[in-house]
Amino acid sequence: MNFIDLQAQRQRIAPQIDAAVARVLTTCGFIMGPEVTGFEQALAKFAGAKHALSCANGTDALLIPLRAWNIGPGDAVFCPSFTFVATAEVVPLVGASPVFVDVLPDTYNIDPASLEAAIAAVKKEGRLKPRAIIAVDLFGQPADYPAISKIAKAHGLKLIADQAQGFGCTLNGRQPLEWVDAATASFFPAKPLGCYGDGGAVLTNDSQLADLVDSIRVHGKASAEDMAAKKYDNDPRYLNMRIGINSRLDAIQAAILSEKLKIYPDELKQRDAIAARYSKALASHVRSVPKMIEGGFSNWAQYTIEHDKRDALAAHLKTKGVPTAIYYPIPIHCQDVYSVYPKAPGGLPVTEAIRSRVLSLPMHPYLDAAQQDQVIDAIRGFSG
Ligand SMILES: *Cc1c(COP(=O)(O)O)cnc(C)c1O
Repeated sequence: MNFIDLQAQRQRIAPQIDAAVARVLTTCGFIMGPEVTGFEQALAKFAGAKHALSCANGTDALLIPLRAWNIGPGDAVFCPSFTFVATAEVVPLVGASPVFVDVLPDTYNIDPASLEAAIAAVKKEGRLKPRAIIAVDLFGQPADYPAISKIAKAHGLKLIADQAQGFGCTLNGRQPLEWVDAATASFFPAKPLGCYGDGGAVLTNDSQLADLVDSIRVHGKASAEDMAAKKYDNDPRYLNMRIGINSRLDAIQAAILSEKLKIYPDELKQRDAIAARYSKALASHVRSVPKMIEGGFSNWAQYTIEHDKRDALAAHLKTKGVPTAIYYPIPIHCQDVYSVYPKAPGGLPVTEAIRSRVLSLPMHPYLDAAQQDQVIDAIRGFSG
């Protein structure tokens, strides 16, 4: 059994994927071009976004909006610590300071009370200027966007939804993008919507931000507005208006993603059915099965349980042929290089408690009933 089975998905749509790749090879249009534009349009439609701008990976998708908003030295960006490192990493990369906030014990997403306390503390101290919040849809379920966006608005902060894991989740039937300035996606192969390499995207309903993201991802190239203002009529790539980066999605990856996006809604349903089956069978055998925010629909990027004897359980499952993973053994604020940055008042007690209890089980849309049973039986058979 695999933790994530990319082969099973490949078998389902191999002819379409191979044809998509061949299409790009035949045209030799490897960078940008119609495959990329076509995928961006399909992605925008899927997410109900005015603009979807692809880029090289999910980390750049977070970095680029921070640059677009000129967030840098002296600025504070609030984010959870119980997440993949990239959420926080982009903040010092632009010269700003992450401020780590705690998560809720049931959903593992930002605790609005910890966020508010952290903002108040930073304001009171006066050393850093609060500028933005990066909320994460950890393990695939939406953060509490109504509460978080209210806090962002009250303090004049930009809000990013880091949907590297959660792209496709909804809250009360609505996309996280409805509450935020920008939502970001990662197409790393192991993410629910993965490509065959690295990829990412920024989604936004803000046309001005979309223009800046489009510019920054291609070396700060001129936008139509820049060109008009400068009376420049040559290739926009050679009028460089701001310090940008090189962060494009390969056309081959875009072609693959266009095919994978077509089956994504169906895959989301399958993931949800497997998660429901796991939860029903395991609820009384572990400390906790995943708890969803009210009205939340998860893409189940991970199915994560808590167990008081986590490491012994993981070892037992391994002997039964069931692979598991620990996300995340070391929260970001406990990593040496990140330990210097500020934390919410009172610290991050929830983050520090759950790190030793969480265990993620095999989860992908092609996990058949027999494999699900193998996981369930192995957990039920653990005597601890
Ligand atoms: C994977 C991930 C990223 C980074 O995505 P890459 O495409 O690997 O750069 C950012 N944030 C979170 C929460 C992630 O899980």
